[in-house]
Amino acid sequence: MTSNKKLGLTTRILIGMGLGITVGMFFNLLTDSGQNPLALDLGVFTFSVKEFFVDGIFNIGGQIFVSSLKMLVVPMVFVSLVCGTCSLNDTSKLGRLGGKAVGLYLLTTAIAITTAITLALIVSPGVGANLTADVNFTAKEAPSLAQVFIDMFPTNPIDAMAKGNMLQVIVFALLFGIALALSGTTGERLNTLFSDLNVVIMKLVTILMNLAPYGVFCLMAKLFTTIGLGIIIKLSLYFGLVLAVLFIHALVVYPVLLKMLTGLNPAIFLKKMKDATLFAFSTSSSNATMPVTLETATKKLGVKNSIASFTVPLGATINMDGTAIMQGVATVFIAQAFNVDLTVSDYLMVILTATLASIGTAGVPGVGLIMLAMVLQQVGLPVEGIALIIGVDRLLDMTRTAVNVTGDCMVSCIVGKSEKEFDANVFNNPAAGTEAESVDFHHLHGSSEKA
Ligand code: ASP
Repeated sequence: MTSNKKLGLTTRILIGMGLGITVGMFFNLLTDSGQNPLALDLGVFTFSVKEFFVDGIFNIGGQIFVSSLKMLVVPMVFVSLVCGTCSLNDTSKLGRLGGKAVGLYLLTTAIAITTAITLALIVSPGVGANLTADVNFTAKEAPSLAQVFIDMFPTNPIDAMAKGNMLQVIVFALLFGIALALSGTTGERLNTLFSDLNVVIMKLVTILMNLAPYGVFCLMAKLFTTIGLGIIIKLSLYFGLVLAVLFIHALVVYPVLLKMLTGLNPAIFLKKMKDATLFAFSTSSSNATMPVTLETATKKLGVKNSIASFTVPLGATINMDGTAIMQGVATVFIAQAFNVDLTVSDYLMVILTATLASIGTAGVPGVGLIMLAMVLQQVGLPVEGIALIIGVDRLLDMTRTAVNVTGDCMVSCIVGKSEKEFDANVFNNPAAGTEAESVDFHHLHGSSEKA
C-alpha cells in the first residue's frame, strides 16, 4: 500500500507495461529460435515454462482484466446516462447536444482521413513494394447506413444490454432518463437510486484501475510473445507513416481544435489523458476503455456527467479518428502496391465511406480492418490487399485506439464547455481525479469491524 501511494497509477501502469513487453519479447525470441529450451522433460509429462506462463498465467490474467472492464460498460453507460439525462435541467437541449457531438465526431474523423491520404500520397509507402497477398482475408459484411439508423432503436432493451449494443443502450437510456425527469416525485426517488448506483459503479471502476498494472503486464507479455516483429521492418514505411499521422492528429490537430473552440490549455488536456490512453493502448478497445474514459472526462477534465455520460459512450461507438487514419494510409498503400490509380473522386469516396462506416461499427479490437474492407470495396480495390498489412495491424490497433479515446474526451470537453456544463477548476487542478487512483481496501475492515 505504502509503495502504491508513492508511485502514481500512471507510473505503475507504465512499469507493468514495460515489464510485460520485456517478458513477452524474451519468450518471443525463445520461440523464434525454433526450440523451446524452457521445456522440462519430467518423464511422465513435459512441463513447458512458456506454456505455463504465456498460455496460462498471462493469458488468464489478461483476459480476466479485459472482461472485468467490459463487464462494467453496459451498467455504467445505462446508469450514468440515465442520471445525466435526468440532471439536464432542460431535456430539449438533448437534440442540440447530440447534433454538436455527432457533428464534431464526424468532422474530426474527416480531418483525420484527409490528412492521412494527403501524407500517404506524398510519402508513397506502397510504390515499388511489389508485395503479394499471400494470406487470405475474407471481408465481413458491413451494415448499410439506413440499417444503422433502424438498428439504433432496440425492440428489446434487455436484449440490447445482453448483446452490448451500445447505440441501442444509449437510445433506451436517453428515453428512460427523459421519462424519469418528467415523472415528478416518483422520478425524484428513482433518480436518487440511480445516482447512488452511479457512485457504486464508479467505485468499481476505481478498484479495477488499481489492478490495471497487473492486467496490463499480462496483456503485454502475452501479446509480445506472439507478435511478429520482423514484418514491421518489411512494412516500415507504412507502419511509420500511420504512426506519424496518429501522433500529428493527437498532438497537433486535437490541441489546435481544443484551443480554438474552448480556449482550454491543450497541454493540461493531454497530460490528463495519460491513464485513459494507456488503457486504450493495452486493451485495443475503446469499448473496454469506456469506464476509464468516462472517469477521466468527468473527474479529471471537469466535463459534467450530464454531457460526458452521453458523449463518451457515443464517441466510443462512432468516433474513430485513429482508425480512419489507418484506413487512409492503407488505401493509398494498397492502391500503390497493386498499381491501381485512384482519382480525386475515388479519394473523396474513401473519406465519405470511412467517416460514415465509423458510425455503425463499435470500438472493439480489429474492427478497423472490417471498415477498411468496406472502403476498399467502395473504390474497387482488392479486399485481399488487407492481407498485406494485417501483420502489423495489432500494434497499430493499440495506438489508434489511444487516439480514438483522446478524440472522445476532446469532443466531450468542447461540447461540455459550449453547453456550460464544464468545471474549469477541475480541469485546471492537476490533482483532480487522482484521489480515485488508490483504493483503501483497509477501509473494508474498518467498516465491518464497526458494524
Ligand atoms: N480498436 C479500435 C477501437 O476500439 C477500433 C479499430 O481501429 O480497430 O477504437
